[in-house]
Amino acid sequence: MKAAVYREAGKPLVLENLPDPEPGPDEVIIKVHRCGICGTDLHMTEGHAWQFSTGTVPGHEYAGEVVEVGSSVTGLRKGDLITALPSTGCGHCEACYSGNLALCHNAPGVMGGYAELMRIPVSVAVRLPGTLSAADGALIEPLAVGLYGVRVSQIQPGDRVLVLGAGSVALCTIYWAKRLGAGRIVAMSRSARRGAGVLDMGGDGFVQYGENEIGEVVEALGGQPDIVFECVGNPGFIMKGIEHVRPLGRVISMGFCTSPDPLVPALAGFKGVSLQFPVGYSLKDFHHVADVMDAGHVDPKILISSVVALDDLPAVFEGLRGPNNETKVQVAPGPASTPAGKSV
Ligand SMILES: [Zn+2]
Ligand SMILES: [Zn+2]
Repeated sequence: MKAAVYREAGKPLVLENLPDPEPGPDEVIIKVHRCGICGTDLHMTEGHAWQFSTGTVPGHEYAGEVVEVGSSVTGLRKGDLITALPSTGCGHCEACYSGNLALCHNAPGVMGGYAELMRIPVSVAVRLPGTLSAADGALIEPLAVGLYGVRVSQIQPGDRVLVLGAGSVALCTIYWAKRLGAGRIVAMSRSARRGAGVLDMGGDGFVQYGENEIGEVVEALGGQPDIVFECVGNPGFIMKGIEHVRPLGRVISMGFCTSPDPLVPALAGFKGVSLQFPVGYSLKDFHHVADVMDAGHVDPKILISSVVALDDLPAVFEGLRGPNNETKVQVAPGPASTPAGKSV
């Protein structure tokens, strides 16, 4: 099978021919139809202390069609469209007991979506409801990131919400903040070009960074935010959240900044700010995302800004490291055949 392989920090992914995967007894093989490119994939190929080991095939936002079934598998059949939680967990650590398998340090991730075929343990597979395409299925992981972050924030009905950023993590967070009871939601970003996406996903307004941003946010929300979701991941943005949030408010850092990020604890302390760093999700979150997409008031496919072929992935991937106009880029490794009648 063809795959895009991480070999070295600072170098593009390399297209290679790898042996086709074989299913173990409790595994299935999928033909990957769609796999999203995630900011984490970009971060972990930049040469930070925390990076993929050489030879990794990245890609954890995938969905595809079951083409082979292991000998002990009963719940899935050839032809099923599935996605999966991209971590199996060891089953006996605090992270696993909590259900957040992504935080388990004892089990490898289930990655490899940047390839034509992938091996998936059935214990973490999620069959897509009949109304969902592979393009939808590959959005379940990023939407689950947003759901988990909003759950961790303990949002209360009517809470005023400020979201820093307007990329895919921010938009997925807005989607769930709205559904889990937020009052007004405002996003803040450098440029207004994602303002329409903010409104589509359930936000009420959009503010650009600038000298008057504190006042503009208060005006747009009708008061200081009860919760600030930091979805940028660059140094300085947690502090920005602390400056905006109301006294005794919550700042939720979802930007996954991989470098030191200075903040002034005394300023946070004088406001009584709580700060949390949600990462990961549970299998229940994946099922809930699939159910809500199935019920579908908003079509999350508005997040998808481009679909690219596997051959073009290495160049597109490098292009995403700088400023760009993309929200969510999906790779379509094979012919992107979806069941008849389902739009992608
Ligand atoms: Zn991701
Ligand atoms: Zn574990």
